[in-house]
Amino acid sequence: MIYGRKNREKAACIEPIFGSQNEDQDLPKYRLAQHTVAPRIAYQMVKDELLDEGTSRLNLATFCQTYMEPEAAQLMADTLDKNAIDKSEYPRTAELENRCVNMIADLWHASGKEKFMGTSTIGSSEACMLGGMAMKFHWRHRAQKAGLDLTKRKPNLVISSGYQVCWEKFCVYWDIELREVPIGSKHMSLDLDSVMDYVDEYTIGIVGILGITYTGMYDDIQRLNKLVEAYNKRNDHQVYIHVDAASGGLFTPFVDPDRVWDFRLDNVVSINTSGHKYGLVYPGVGWVLWRDEQYLPKELIFNVSYLGGELPTMAINFSHSASQIIGQYYNFVRYGFEGYRAIHQRTRDVARYLSQAIRQTGDFDIVADGSALPIVCYQLKHAPKREWTLYDLSDRLLMKGWQVPAYPLPKNLDQEVVHRIVVRGDLGMSMAHNFVQDLQEALTTLNNAHLVFHQKHTVTRYGFTH
Ligand SMILES: *Cc1c(COP(=O)(O)O)cnc(C)c1O
Repeated sequence: MIYGRKNREKAACIEPIFGSQNEDQDLPKYRLAQHTVAPRIAYQMVKDELLDEGTSRLNLATFCQTYMEPEAAQLMADTLDKNAIDKSEYPRTAELENRCVNMIADLWHASGKEKFMGTSTIGSSEACMLGGMAMKFHWRHRAQKAGLDLTKRKPNLVISSGYQVCWEKFCVYWDIELREVPIGSKHMSLDLDSVMDYVDEYTIGIVGILGITYTGMYDDIQRLNKLVEAYNKRNDHQVYIHVDAASGGLFTPFVDPDRVWDFRLDNVVSINTSGHKYGLVYPGVGWVLWRDEQYLPKELIFNVSYLGGELPTMAINFSHSASQIIGQYYNFVRYGFEGYRAIHQRTRDVARYLSQAIRQTGDFDIVADGSALPIVCYQLKHAPKREWTLYDLSDRLLMKGWQVPAYPLPKNLDQEVVHRIVVRGDLGMSMAHNFVQDLQEALTTLNNAHLVFHQKHTVTRYGFTH
């Protein structure tokens, strides 16, 4: 055998990854490299690049799913190549989306007498844009009929100040005035005593939130509906409700089926949810539904070709993979009502356990105890001698890998800093016990810590010297 350069090149495929030439170099960062890299090495290098940014399952800041069953993940990987918008090329996929819309309509009690409509989206943000646009166009038709001067003022949207940022985006992008009803320590959700004071003829709609992002608390949509009903009786101008159920839409129907917040209420005309929150799908998939086609103005609908015919669609995006929609359908088939209920109930048990354990440490006041959405929110008790803050506690917890955000509450309450833990299906009771243990250790360390000040330019004997 004659060994030479040729054999060496061949041998590259059996080189140990960490002994390869590419591993000896920095990754190309802001310009394409000239040369190719073997796939197994590229895989390892890119994966390693992401190694120190934390484990998503220990990220207690996010509502988004961080676990799916291997079969679901496999199915989604198998279908990454399908484009959700190509309805005629992938008619079966289109049918799965249609089935999901129907199942959700049923969960949200769409009435058999009306013609509900709905679509998948990339998440609740796109869903809220679509819901908001429909409200704006619908309002404009009504306002024109009523002879309102549309140039006099901007149309407005009424929502509590606990809104998620997508509503601010919606208002900026579509030139709408955002009317915030401040949440206060008395009302940690939409203030029903004052909400109707914000409504006038230029109001395109009121948004109720089923699960405020900050605290997980529910707006009282049932009472809001009553107020709207009374308003609509008194006025020619009619106002309707959109429910932002990003988190609650696929949680509440399973664990609090008696809570009335959905299409059972006459003035709720549209609802959105995130499939990737308590719908248990990896990001990004969302859903938006209208109770009847009359609330979805025709100019917002575009037709795409479908099996020689046409299919109405409404979306901001065009091409994207259908695998998330397929993942949603998998979950619906796999878990059924009972499965979702069992998972969510257990998730809520964990949230309640955590809120109790956190209260028992004696250092915190609980702001949200997980009895609405499984969110635990707490702030430090007043203690003038304490030398650390919730930001320090976040740092300590991060040393064990837990990511727990500390942030101020929305406007009006923005002097209050809280920690928020979002409990998800993949945070089991045993993990929760570990978290509490790590929290207790962190508290002990912080409570015993003392700052040592050294004057900057002193030269002194310090500690053990020879
Ligand atoms: C998360 C959330 C959104 C945005 O949802 P995405 O699916 O992340 O786009 C909107 N509204 C509320 C209340 C939320 O909690």
